[in-house]
Amino acid sequence: MAKKYNIAVIRGDGVGPEIVTEAIKVLDVVSHKCGFTLDYKDYLMGGAAIDITGEPLPKETVTGVLASDALLFGAIGGEKWDSLPRDKRPETGLLKIRKELNAFANLRPVKVFDDLVDASPLKPEIVKGIDVLVVRELTGGLYFGEPRGKEGDKAFNTMVYSKDEIVRIAKVAFEAAMKRGKKVCSVDKANVLDVSQLWRDTVIEVANDYPEVELSHMYVDNAAMQLIRDPRQFDVILTGNIFGDILSDEASQISGSIGLLPSASMGGKVGLYEPIHGSAPDIANQGIANPIATILSASMMLKYALGEENAADLIEEAVGKTLSEGYRTKDISDYGAKTICSTSEIGSIIADCLAKL
Ligand code: NAD
Repeated sequence: MAKKYNIAVIRGDGVGPEIVTEAIKVLDVVSHKCGFTLDYKDYLMGGAAIDITGEPLPKETVTGVLASDALLFGAIGGEKWDSLPRDKRPETGLLKIRKELNAFANLRPVKVFDDLVDASPLKPEIVKGIDVLVVRELTGGLYFGEPRGKEGDKAFNTMVYSKDEIVRIAKVAFEAAMKRGKKVCSVDKANVLDVSQLWRDTVIEVANDYPEVELSHMYVDNAAMQLIRDPRQFDVILTGNIFGDILSDEASQISGSIGLLPSASMGGKVGLYEPIHGSAPDIANQGIANPIATILSASMMLKYALGEENAADLIEEAVGKTLSEGYRTKDISDYGAKTICSTSEIGSIIADCLAKL
């Protein structure tokens, strides 16, 4: 019997519903082609949830998502809800669901499609062929460490990592590397920080279980420089919360458009797959949003949550082929466009291309 997976879907606000529709269009084709079934169930979160229930993250959403195999998410937020108290705002819903899912690992792949090398702020000869995965620890380190606070003229935060926290994120990076280029570069500041020394020692221990993976270490200041100087040297970058926050944003700029970049936040039983961009209210309901980041997030979901790697690869191939044939949404229309497409047109073109692979 064909395998069946339960997918929780949160479309959200702004361009969210438009881009998620296109991701589902592509998922329907690939699942049919690869012989498995995806059963989708919609849940409310963010502004859409506030309008209907008064809460940014209704209980049914948490229960439903936790009972699924994965969560596919668009984006939330918009001016309409910006004046609400913080705990009632759309963004609170997103932070809460990440916590409910125990999403301690954030994965952000950074790729530059050959046909869009000119969209990068870096020179084409530096960016061509980049394929980097940033694995960032998301629930520990400086942003969560205690003690924290302000006393008189002094304010303080604490960078804390336990060995267990480092082991579990390191395993995510090594497992991911096994499915890619088999290289992990662990980024820390072990020359200065005790917590980084523990990080480094622990990563070396975890590496023993992955003899096929080549491990290197880099100080974070050097890593920031190397990402711009020679980003192709990296396969998987493994790092803590604050370093990862900064490096993943730096890395994302290399690809040129925010509408192209997917992400996964995982750790607990259910992972969350979403584009890195927000709800883009300025272009909502105009049919011009780029759905590729969401389509690639769906591909990550197939790979990491469902183990359907072949299907995930087919989606990536179809996106690459669509771009190489000159189909572009408005945001990337300055770079090699032969045909400018709406959100739904490019989704259909990717789906048709996939069907023929
Ligand atoms: P944004 O990412 O929504 O938009 C930034 C710029 O990029 C805008 O000009 C937008 O038009 C463009 N853009 C974004 N996605 C695009 C796409 N797929 N195709 C083409 N262009 C695209 O960031 P913002 O404007 O700072 O925030 C808008 C709202 O989104 C806010 O309410 C914010 O809180 C929320 N937000 C949500 C998330 C999330 O849901 N994960 C993340 C960031 C921001």
